Amino acid sequence: MYKLGLLGSGISYTLSPLVHGAAFDYLGVEGAYDVFDTSNEKLEETVRRMRESLDGFNVTKPYKEMIIPLIDEDKSGCGAVNTVAMTGGKAVGYNTDGSGFLRSFNEDCDLTFGENVLVLGAGGAAKVVVKTLKDAGFAVYAHNRTADRLKPLLQETGAREWRGESAAAIINCTSCGLKNGDNPLSSLVEKFDKKSVKYAYDLIYSPPETDFLKEMRAAGARTKNGLDMLVYQAVKADEIILGVNLTDADYREIKRLVMRIVGK
Ligand code: NDP
Repeated sequence: MYKLGLLGSGISYTLSPLVHGAAFDYLGVEGAYDVFDTSNEKLEETVRRMRESLDGFNVTKPYKEMIIPLIDEDKSGCGAVNTVAMTGGKAVGYNTDGSGFLRSFNEDCDLTFGENVLVLGAGGAAKVVVKTLKDAGFAVYAHNRTADRLKPLLQETGAREWRGESAAAIINCTSCGLKNGDNPLSSLVEKFDKKSVKYAYDLIYSPPETDFLKEMRAAGARTKNGLDMLVYQAVKADEIILGVNLTDADYREIKRLVMRIVGK
């Protein structure tokens, strides 16, 4: 029986147990997946308990960076860990958000490499998405409400600061939109050419259509939310923790199972 879990704070909305449950069923393995919703003060104690009792765990907001001093090795390559595998008593950290995002983004995207992509946000998710898109060959521009927070992202990833350039795709990596009425496009002071956008992607999946996606759909863009990304990063985490190799068909099949359960 595999024992996995999710570490985070204020994460009662999470769909992770459902997604990992679907993956365990598909793989025919017995597994338990528990949520560890933990305050900052109890972080160290909770991580110690998780390390002792689990085969591995996922990490979500706001602990993807804070977890690093509490594990033995960081193999994330981006300074943000969302997956920890316990191997021989050693806790090794990975990041599967980038591969989950790219798999989801590429499924419906007919952009050619080299086209401009605008990423909104400068938090952990934005950093991983920018790095992944740069590695995939896109010309990435980034914008954040707070300019100071953008600087380290630009330095670490080599992305350019957005100064009003048009873009074929726009990706919301901010947490703005979790509440109805919030729209990250409102923080753009430069004029943004919405009509040039072919594809708009929001990492947020609840609500399923944010005001950002509504506005971009009305401007003529194809739109997608982050539910597939959630599924794909979770399946990649299971591959690492359970030590299995899955095919593209396996990924699609697990996603189909999850979508059936959530009624999509
Ligand atoms: P962080 O808290 O690290 O970063 C939040 C970002 O949102 C910052 O850039 C912040 O800007 C910006 N922001 C917050 N409020 C506003 C606002 N009102 N207007 C404009 N910008 C705003 O979060 P993460 O990077 O970890 O996550 C970002 C989002 O991505 C979350 O919604 C998360 O749920 C989602 N996510 C989804 C995943 C999936 O699998 N679908 C995986 C990972 C993340 P500032 O610096 O100015 O405060």
